[in-house]
Amino acid sequence: MQFPGTTGFNFNEPLIFDRSKNGKTGCSLPEIDLPQVEPESVIPKELLRDKDSNLPEVSELDVVRHYVRLSQWNYCVDAGFYPLGSCTMKYNPKVNEAIFSDKGFTELHPLAPEDFSQGALQVIYELGEYLKEISGMYDVALSPFAGAHGELAGMMIVKAYFQSRGENRKKILIPDSAHGTNPASSAMCGFEVVKVGTADGGILAPETIARMMNEDVAAIMLTNPNTLGLFEKNIKEVGDIVHSKGGLVYCDGANLNALMGIVKPGNLGINLLQFNLHKTFSTPHGGGGPGGGGLAVSRNLAEFLPVPSVIKKGKKYIFDYRRKKSIGRISAFWGNFLVMARAYAYIRSLGPDGLRRVSELAVLNANYARAKLRGHYDIPYDTACMHEVILSDKKQKEKGIITMDIAKRLMDYGFHPPTIYFPLIVPGAMMIEPTETESKQTLDSFINAMIAIAKEAIENPGLGKSAPHITRLKRLDETKAAREPALTCVK
Ligand SMILES: *Cc1c(COP(=O)(O)O)cnc(C)c1O
Repeated sequence: MQFPGTTGFNFNEPLIFDRSKNGKTGCSLPEIDLPQVEPESVIPKELLRDKDSNLPEVSELDVVRHYVRLSQWNYCVDAGFYPLGSCTMKYNPKVNEAIFSDKGFTELHPLAPEDFSQGALQVIYELGEYLKEISGMYDVALSPFAGAHGELAGMMIVKAYFQSRGENRKKILIPDSAHGTNPASSAMCGFEVVKVGTADGGILAPETIARMMNEDVAAIMLTNPNTLGLFEKNIKEVGDIVHSKGGLVYCDGANLNALMGIVKPGNLGINLLQFNLHKTFSTPHGGGGPGGGGLAVSRNLAEFLPVPSVIKKGKKYIFDYRRKKSIGRISAFWGNFLVMARAYAYIRSLGPDGLRRVSELAVLNANYARAKLRGHYDIPYDTACMHEVILSDKKQKEKGIITMDIAKRLMDYGFHPPTIYFPLIVPGAMMIEPTETESKQTLDSFINAMIAIAKEAIENPGLGKSAPHITRLKRLDETKAAREPALTCVK
């Protein structure tokens, strides 16, 4: 079995300043044929520097190599498998980039009048219609900039909804299997977060919600599939209990890539749901952006959505500000348009059958990994999972090898580690999300690396303890690296 990891060509790269040599330039200009002037005669003195700027003096090739090498240090899904659970680091088909790289879209000014932006408005409008169809929700606003931003907009709506009814509900129920942004978004809106424990099977028990639900609770906010990678099978029943006491149901929809074409959240009694367009609908989102966190709601909440939305009037697409109880603007201009554009291209290129296939394969790949790794690793919830599977280091820990060591050792085999130590409710968690875009060969190669590491943990635990061995930098002091970053590796 071949692994992508190797020791060859592992370049170091100094700061561009360290490459500097007096007199080197990146370009040669013709000799000046105008009279030379002193800077003081044309630039006010206070704007002139006293000392030389010490900018690096380098050739064109120096600059090219510097930035190309730096870019090669940056791991990306185009370079290899990226099983980072919860983040959905799947391959983004290049056609989605190509279609919307047209200047008419990329250089459209956000304040261009409606008449000049009909194509862009049509994209926003039609994307909204597709998302309604996919989710089964009643209405949608696409302006939030990311998943957590969509959650924030959603919780602002929950607040506004109860205020409009003269009710002062203070609490939000949040299962411990929900994503960490859920309690954060609730707290940002001034709600009190009440933690709900998950039952033994890793999903919510209706009895627990029945016990905790009362007229002081504004909503339940849950993630489905949850962060254990499991589908909340009782979600309808849970929703009925919450609704019976006048509460709302918020579902974090970041994991929609497990459900498309199979389940419509709108049919499960959900009142609010955000899409993570950058995850599910293919926008490269390493390094924290850009994102799209459109928010969908049930009928009773439509008038609270952020403005403006795009509507179709006759043949024309226009901005609409008429939502009676709107929470107002949630973003500058109209949101991250080019993320919407990619989502639109992705949905159009796959069609309904293709989207369903995405979810089927995402789920199949995670379950394949689960079946192949069983016996080698502890799988705390070893039942059919959705798009991600959670392992723990319980077995390896007996030999002193912990999740951190396994993650570091994976790098020697040429794999980006999965998400580790999340979800928090599984000690030593490894959260693997293969995504639907990976082939059986890639999965097998990753699985074999995982199995090899599990064997090493028994036969030669020292290997894992001191990993990584063949990366450019070895194991860092992570606390120190975060607090005192060394911005050059040249001594
Ligand atoms: C990624 C993620 C979020 C947060 O989304 P951002 O776009 O990073 O703000 C929320 N919930 C879940 C389940 C996620 O996976």
